[in-house]
Amino acid sequence: MKLICFDCDSTLSKIEGVDELADVRGAEVKQQIIDLTNLAMSGEIAIEEIFGKRLDLIKPTAESCESVGQLYIDEMAAGAKDVIGKLQASGWHVVIISGGFIQPIEPFAKYLGIEEVYAVPLHFNEDGSYASFTASPTTRNGGKPEIINELLEKYQPEVSVMVGDGVSDLECQEVVNLFIGYGEFEEREKVKAQAQSFAYNFADIERVLGGFEQN
Ligand SMILES: [Mg+2]
Repeated sequence: MKLICFDCDSTLSKIEGVDELADVRGAEVKQQIIDLTNLAMSGEIAIEEIFGKRLDLIKPTAESCESVGQLYIDEMAAGAKDVIGKLQASGWHVVIISGGFIQPIEPFAKYLGIEEVYAVPLHFNEDGSYASFTASPTTRNGGKPEIINELLEKYQPEVSVMVGDGVSDLECQEVVNLFIGYGEFEEREKVKAQAQSFAYNFADIERVLGGFEQN
């Protein structure tokens, strides 16, 4: 089996789910959240430093998670669903590893035909208001390689690939056979400079994988 893991936000879909959840809190809060997310994804501050802070500002509701779930689908990277289908048909096991939230990502994963998803669970009160989050691996730096190491142990794949736009994705380069930086929506300097390969769309990803499998 061949293993390929995708980041979700700014990779499989144009949006950053957390920024969209902040939308309902007004422009000022949204800008604060965007700035914090960018600092973390470009590697200037640790993810764990901003994770709880962002949620305390946003307090996402069950209802807003539902609408962001639809937004992931509406803003999907062109060709992503087709390419993922083709990969699965040719023996790749496709997984999503995200520092986003499981509730809005799950319907998107379902739409893409991806069954294995690692993201951060949110907890709501009975009325749907925000209660808390589970401090799962992707709420901190080093969390994505930690999950990939578990997958490598579990599946013992012939090859392993990670695709993503952020520094938290780049961290996986240490543990996979191939890391593909993704720059369609966000071209992050550090990721572009250090990634073994770089793609700007899903056709690029297919090409890179084709070349990789031949070698
Ligand atoms: Mg991302």
